[in-house]
Amino acid sequence: MIQLHDKHFEPFISSDEIDFAIQNMAKQMDDDFFDEVPVFIGVLNGSFKVVSDLMKYYRGMCEVSFVKLASYEGTQSTNQVKQLIGLNEDLEGKTVVIVEDIVDTGNTVEELKAIFKEKKVKHLKIATLFFKPDAYKKDIKLDYVGIRVPNKFIVGFGLDYDGLGRNLPDVYQLAIENLNTQMINIVLFGKPGAGKGTQADFLKEKYNLVHLSTGDIFRYNIKNGTELGKLAKTYMDKGDLVPDEITIKMLQSEVDENPQAKGFLFDGFPRTIAQAQALDTFLNSKNQEVTATVALEADDEILVQRLLERGKTSGRPDDQDEEKIRNRYEEYNQKTAPLMDYYKAQNKFKAVNGIGSIAEVTERLSEVLDQL
Ligand code: AMP
Repeated sequence: MIQLHDKHFEPFISSDEIDFAIQNMAKQMDDDFFDEVPVFIGVLNGSFKVVSDLMKYYRGMCEVSFVKLASYEGTQSTNQVKQLIGLNEDLEGKTVVIVEDIVDTGNTVEELKAIFKEKKVKHLKIATLFFKPDAYKKDIKLDYVGIRVPNKFIVGFGLDYDGLGRNLPDVYQLAIENLNTQMINIVLFGKPGAGKGTQADFLKEKYNLVHLSTGDIFRYNIKNGTELGKLAKTYMDKGDLVPDEITIKMLQSEVDENPQAKGFLFDGFPRTIAQAQALDTFLNSKNQEVTATVALEADDEILVQRLLERGKTSGRPDDQDEEKIRNRYEEYNQKTAPLMDYYKAQNKFKAVNGIGSIAEVTERLSEVLDQL
């Protein structure tokens, strides 16, 4: 057992196993590129170990380079826009092999593919030492995979936990003992306009949680014209729920992008029984669970007026039209309200009066959360 920062990790994959996997990858590549001079491009920081060992075993002629992906816009939970640093070579007409330490959701691979497409390379291949098939959400083919790993948080051999652990020769996983006890995952419930977003801003600071608002993430995607945004817009503008399949996938990749989180504050998710079940399964796969759900209760008529008021300044189309607002309540009553029984059955449901000053409501919520 080792400790990095506040967490304990236990041995998971030995350096021998890793070495064997890298030898195999090198052998396959030697076979595939026997008449070519490929350019291996490692994605820093994590890939420095795998590239170094791969080059120890790759026998053919090749070039080696490294790049770094950096985000230049976006918030913590919607880290969408990336640019490449460090690529000086002309890659036109060359066979390029991107070497990753780990592929999980596939977001980085997708971004790299898009960037390299513009470089007019001859062939673009993707190699990764570790691959998490259960977390992978893309249909981009991975050409070389060293070791498949379950959807767990791992460190070592290039992979870090908050900066530490990259130099470890073996790979470690989070020890079960420090899961469950350390994380609190809160679902904030409430009809549109009940003040979830406002309260979430306070609670995330107070309890050191990562705030995931599905509504905000959809709006961010709409603003940036992403495929996800285009898909979601048609539903959101009418006040309908976005289909479960899309929403669940998106939520899972947001959680996966925050492996260091001390806990999550889910705001606007889950909104259907299928989403709640998916959240339970997903968190269980990480030895986590929903700690509690807290509902902000308020009278419909007060909320409709609040939303119409908000719509005057928020610019949100779904806040400006009473019919759409009523449709959102209809969706809530039909699809979201049954979740209260779902969580009551698990003894995880608490309700709080959502009417009062912001500070009063925060105080009521804190009383509930302090007891967890
Ligand atoms: P909100 O900002 O939470 O009120 O969400 C605004 C809109 O985003 C909703 O009316 C839905 O169209 C969509 N949305 C947000 N969260 C979900 C979810 N969990 N499931 C389906 N649709 C959602």
